[in-house]
Amino acid sequence: MAEISWELFERQVAECRLCGLCRNIRNKVPGQGDRQSPLMLIGEGPGRDEDEQGLAFVGAAGQLLTKMLASIGLPRERVYICNVVKCRPPQNRIPTPEEADACKIHLRMQTWLVRPKVIVLLGATAAKDVLGPETRITRDRGRWTERKGVWILPTYHPSALLRDASKKPEAWEDMQSLRDKLQELDLYPDIYGEK
Ligand code: URA
Repeated sequence: MAEISWELFERQVAECRLCGLCRNIRNKVPGQGDRQSPLMLIGEGPGRDEDEQGLAFVGAAGQLLTKMLASIGLPRERVYICNVVKCRPPQNRIPTPEEADACKIHLRMQTWLVRPKVIVLLGATAAKDVLGPETRITRDRGRWTERKGVWILPTYHPSALLRDASKKPEAWEDMQSLRDKLQELDLYPDIYGEK
């Protein structure tokens, strides 16, 4: 078997035909950022801007995400960002559980390669995909789960915050909780100080 590597990951995504989403796209969107980051953010799937550029979270939701990270002192280049599905669903519909399952091979491989200590799940699709279908984002957001030494935090998707500003105070609380966890685990000592 080929050794797991970023080259293999990139080739696997580029050649993937495991579901039908790739039939209607301009570019695949594997994810990007610091591949050695202790923090990985997982969204739902590419939108129009992401499909055009082949990059995750570059549209309006991405700009808000950049601001949310900046609000806790984190430059976006210091995190790794990707999505549950690597191809844009038509009309930005929610990926089906079958599409999300087909794409899991890619998400698993990139999680293995990044080896994050903390994962933030942006929105219901990512939360259900990683934590289980019974997850409810309105109920479970802000609650930390630890799995095999990795701390996982579900929170609202930035698009949900753009649609409904009343969710922003809770999202802000979650960002503070993220900052506290990163500090507690000593993951960005140059930003949050040595313990
Ligand atoms: N929404 C997502 O879930 N992912 C992106 O990359 C952009 C918008």
